[in-house]
Amino acid sequence: MAGIYIHIPFCKQACYYCDFHFSTSFKKKDELVQTLVTELEIRKEELKNQSIETIYFGGGTPSLLTNDELKLLIKAVYNNYKVIDNPEITLEANPDDLSNNRINQLSKSSINRLSIGIQSFFEDDLQSMNRAHSSVEAKTCLREATKYFDNITIDLIYGIPKMSIEKWNENLQIALNFGVNHISSYALTVEPKTALDTFIKRGTYPPIDESLALQHFNLLVNETEKQGFVHYEVSNFGKPRYFSKHNTSYWQGKPYLGIGPSAHSFNKTQRSWNVANNIKYIKSLQKKELPSTVEILSKQDQYNEYIMTGLRTIWGISFHKVEVDFGVKYKAHLQSSIEKFINQGVLEITDGKLLAAKKGKFLTDGIASDLFMI
Ligand code: SF4
Repeated sequence: MAGIYIHIPFCKQACYYCDFHFSTSFKKKDELVQTLVTELEIRKEELKNQSIETIYFGGGTPSLLTNDELKLLIKAVYNNYKVIDNPEITLEANPDDLSNNRINQLSKSSINRLSIGIQSFFEDDLQSMNRAHSSVEAKTCLREATKYFDNITIDLIYGIPKMSIEKWNENLQIALNFGVNHISSYALTVEPKTALDTFIKRGTYPPIDESLALQHFNLLVNETEKQGFVHYEVSNFGKPRYFSKHNTSYWQGKPYLGIGPSAHSFNKTQRSWNVANNIKYIKSLQKKELPSTVEILSKQDQYNEYIMTGLRTIWGISFHKVEVDFGVKYKAHLQSSIEKFINQGVLEITDGKLLAAKKGKFLTDGIASDLFMI
């Protein structure tokens, strides 16, 4: 089983915190969509023995594509790959693209999961992050989308400086009252060379407050738990049966093909990524050359990836798997490096699996790097 990720590298405007690959010029949009089809065609051999169970349109802003363009890309997947019955097909969409009419049309397509970039229901937060949508659009589109789709996830950002705990709670309660079955929530982080980075350095935007982010995270964990959500990955909360199949397959080490500029692919032993430049991407594929860089993953790399992803999820790290896949040396390394974290109560062992304890979940990336084999 495998997944296909298709990167749509266009956005109406740049959100201040974002370091994903996208262009705000749409001049090359038609050509780029055709090139995505070409890439899907020329890479079909890579997954020839696999069944595709998920297709994911991410970005950028995939909802900027027309329904016909999305249909064309889905058709190209079906024409070139073996797809299971009823695959999960997710579209990342921004509220300003989701008019009532558009939602209605999408509900008649084969897209069966919407991932809506709400980020906040408050106008001042949206403006402070340079989001293209308004608070009214966030609510209106969610009201309409929940009538047509039951598999909806929304993105919310926490840890926005000076956001009170009450305001964050209000954001969460609005989301929960809409009855969404999945929430992905990320702390606002400052990536190098983003506008946010510049503003903070200039002193025109307050710096990130980690302790505030932790308070927001704890509230998020508790409030979603009360409503029957499972905290199945550090940043992902889903009702049973509504976990993201696509993202879960990343975390469980299944292979995936990343199509489009900047997209990453993984086939268990190697990782590759396409050039993060729309024009270079198009030109290279016109010559039928794949514009990608390949990294062969050593045993050590594979182990470190397993530790990182395992610790972030409820599936944890299996000592048995570490021994079978990596050997006794790795298992012994793991057992000795976890001791202090078990004593601190941030890691725990249940049924032969190593898991982040509730109070360790916010810290998993830091803990994981201490467990790496270097
Ligand atoms: S819409 Fe998404 S991809 Fe585009 S700039 Fe904003 S956060 Fe980045």
